[in-house]
Amino acid sequence: FGKLVEGLSKTRNNILGGVEQVIHNFKAIDEDFLEELEEALIVADLGVGTTIRIMEDLRVKIKERKLRDVQDVRGLLQEELVEIMRTDQDPYIFERERSVLLVIGVNGVGKTTTIGKLAHQYKSQGKKVVLAAADTFRAAAIDQLVEWANRASVEIIAQGENADPGAVVYDAVQAAKARKADILICDTAGRLHNKKNLMEELRKVNRIIEREYPDAYKEVLLVLDSTTGQNALQQAKQFKEIADITGIVLTKLDGTAKGGIAIAIQAEHEIPVKFIGVGEGLEDLQKFDPVSFVEALFE
Ligand code: GDP
Repeated sequence: FGKLVEGLSKTRNNILGGVEQVIHNFKAIDEDFLEELEEALIVADLGVGTTIRIMEDLRVKIKERKLRDVQDVRGLLQEELVEIMRTDQDPYIFERERSVLLVIGVNGVGKTTTIGKLAHQYKSQGKKVVLAAADTFRAAAIDQLVEWANRASVEIIAQGENADPGAVVYDAVQAAKARKADILICDTAGRLHNKKNLMEELRKVNRIIEREYPDAYKEVLLVLDSTTGQNALQQAKQFKEIADITGIVLTKLDGTAKGGIAIAIQAEHEIPVKFIGVGEGLEDLQKFDPVSFVEALFE
């Protein structure tokens, strides 16, 4: 929690700085107050759509509870943010014994690092993990993933640069079955400039998993870089069109002022954020918990 509070300090200033100012300037909740509050939320990278939704809910609650004092708005906002992000899915509990995580996302967002951290976490929980280096477009991506696999002490299935990603995944599934692995984590190509290509590649990989590993529980995790703010929202929209995303990993939340994106993504795309990256180290991945996140924001 300490790391989260520390990492979110700029986001906290960004979001709450403006909100506190508005609360300070008014005594009673009236139309002027609500309009200024709305403005403060939009400015704080929450985006227009999310802010409108928050304000609508706040107005209903204020009316229902007959609130008058601006000081009550702080708690109300906290409650609302938790509601927007609440999910009953625990990313550590998979529905079936065998699981496959397909990890997708644009280059540079922290995909490789995230896979390394995930491998380390599951391994630390006593699970047997196999990695598949199916981003064969860049040799560096393969080398990097091999390095992370070594760091996390897990097995990795890799072939050379430009190998067929489908073949890598096929091999990895056979290896996962043979070793009775609990979790197979597949890296995938991160280039987005050719959407059709990327879509076909993901489809192919999906088909292989479904055919070769039908009993496995499948998750598709989209990795997004929180420092890119509204651009990350845009990426979520694009990837939603080509894959059935089951969860989001939001990286680089440490030190950015744009952490409000965690709220916007869940409000606008209704995909749960499952993990957050709070640093570059093996341990710097946390399970996303809306209550802790909002508490850290209001700390
Ligand atoms: P990929 O191209 O998507 O595979 O991205 P990488 O995993 O290579 O990461 C790109 C850069 O982001 C590297 O320098 C990582 O150390 C850094 N990075 C990844 N996740 C985090 C994070 O949660 N916090 C910080 N501060 N840096 C991160």
